[in-house]
Amino acid sequence: MKILITSALPYVNNIPHLGNIIGCVLSADVYARYKRLNKDDVLYICGTDEYGTATETKAKEQNMTPRDICNKYHKIHKEIYEWFNIKFDIFGRTSNDDPKDVNWSQTKLCHDIFNKLKDNNLIYEKEIEQLFSEDLNKFCADRYIKGTCPVCNYDDANGDQCDKCGKLHAATELINPYYKLDPKFKLVKKKTSHLFLKLSELQNELKNWYNKNDGSWTNIADGITKSWLNDDLHDRCITRDLEWGTPVPDTKKFGNKFKNKVFYVWFDAPIGYISITANKLNNWTNWWKNEDVKLVNFMAKDNVPFHSIIFPACLIGTKDNYNLVNTIAAVDYLNYEDKKFSKSNNTGVFGDDAKNSGICSDMWRFYLIRVRPETNDSFFTWNDFEAKVNSELVNNFSNLVNRILVLTYKNFKKIPEIKDMNLYEELNNEYENYLNLYRSNMDKIKLREGLVNFIQFSSECNLFINNYEPWNLIKIDKEKCEQVLGILCNFLIKLSVLGLPFIPDCCNKIQSILNINCNDYIFDINKFVGSELNKPDILFKRMSKDKLDELKNKFN
Ligand code: ZN
Repeated sequence: MKILITSALPYVNNIPHLGNIIGCVLSADVYARYKRLNKDDVLYICGTDEYGTATETKAKEQNMTPRDICNKYHKIHKEIYEWFNIKFDIFGRTSNDDPKDVNWSQTKLCHDIFNKLKDNNLIYEKEIEQLFSEDLNKFCADRYIKGTCPVCNYDDANGDQCDKCGKLHAATELINPYYKLDPKFKLVKKKTSHLFLKLSELQNELKNWYNKNDGSWTNIADGITKSWLNDDLHDRCITRDLEWGTPVPDTKKFGNKFKNKVFYVWFDAPIGYISITANKLNNWTNWWKNEDVKLVNFMAKDNVPFHSIIFPACLIGTKDNYNLVNTIAAVDYLNYEDKKFSKSNNTGVFGDDAKNSGICSDMWRFYLIRVRPETNDSFFTWNDFEAKVNSELVNNFSNLVNRILVLTYKNFKKIPEIKDMNLYEELNNEYENYLNLYRSNMDKIKLREGLVNFIQFSSECNLFINNYEPWNLIKIDKEKCEQVLGILCNFLIKLSVLGLPFIPDCCNKIQSILNINCNDYIFDINKFVGSELNKPDILFKRMSKDKLDELKNKFN
């Protein structure tokens, strides 16, 4: 099967924190690796989302061009994801030196989609009121406005969306709006023309499409989408008064009066998935206009409405044959200790902190997947990090691996041939049981549960080795010892395959010590014999109390 996997495009002006990493790029990576093992034809797309107010403002603050800001942070993102072993097929970007260049796929596709929506009478012009600052002599971007939510009365709502009830609104709808960077600035409502998407007219088609989904969306994605579809959808403004963005093209219908405006980043950004593919692959339509492709979007819950409502509505409205998302794999939030991760308050652990922590990326991956907020908001805590890594990854798994490899290497040099099929079946029955659970969870994108199944089977192998004690058997019954270790080596290979999506460095290392390569492994391959082992080496060291204290002090 062809599976197209996307991770929400991280916004370029910040360093991602652990919540961002498990929310999109890492989760999508685990799923992509699993599907590649499964022999599916996988394309995993991501990249930086670079246009918009935040980049433009940051550039002004730092006396740089938006282009320089994008280049700087694109590189930072790329390096962090490489360190985390995120294996994208394409990691691209949405912006170009010259956003007006119609040969740049983002501009070309954005214009194409806009023009088709316009030709289908789904775009109209309307004069609206916006908040204007006399002090700045310009319209204030929604994201720089704060105020009280008109729906739930939350007094710290953002200009475009309320963090508490999740509803989107215009900044002018806020009660007592103020300019975030300087609350003293006086804001007045002023009229200006913008272009609107007739979302209201697409509601029925959208509902029909949603109702036909295969039930594979996560609960949080379904919940948010249903709450939108049960309400009336409102038309949405798709243009902004900015320079750094995809320009609105001149058209017969609207003339050139929007030549100084750009597309709103939320109209523009999801098109990035397609344009990033088109920038790299000539045959991009094989992935984006092909009904044999299954499209899976990974994101955190705040991104759901844009992927389940607005973007599909745009694509449906083009009446072109773009693929619509099949599965929205959204998660809740990962919190930091008892707080929220926050870029502005610098709360939490960021990608570069993890990279400089002296703890290997597999340990970070393991813990983040282990606390993936699959069913509720979850928590990163240093104590839990230490506890889970030491008990599950080191004591349970790594020690098992070490015992099997050291005993086999020392006594037999190679993977012994299995002759005692009754003994083999003893462990194989457990394996089949956990393999079924694992596959069913991973297919449903319950990645945390899949990881638990991996640990559970590792526990079964521990029971087996403790029961037969090959370190004693070698002295009294060498033949039996050979059988026990031959069987354990075989199931270790299977563990190294099940674990590959989560802790790839470690699993590759196990395979290289066993002198085999299971990258082509399909889950039902049977037995391995005869490879000459390489000298074993310890996979993970326990996280020490000192290390834990050092990290706690650094970040709290
Ligand atoms: Zn609200």
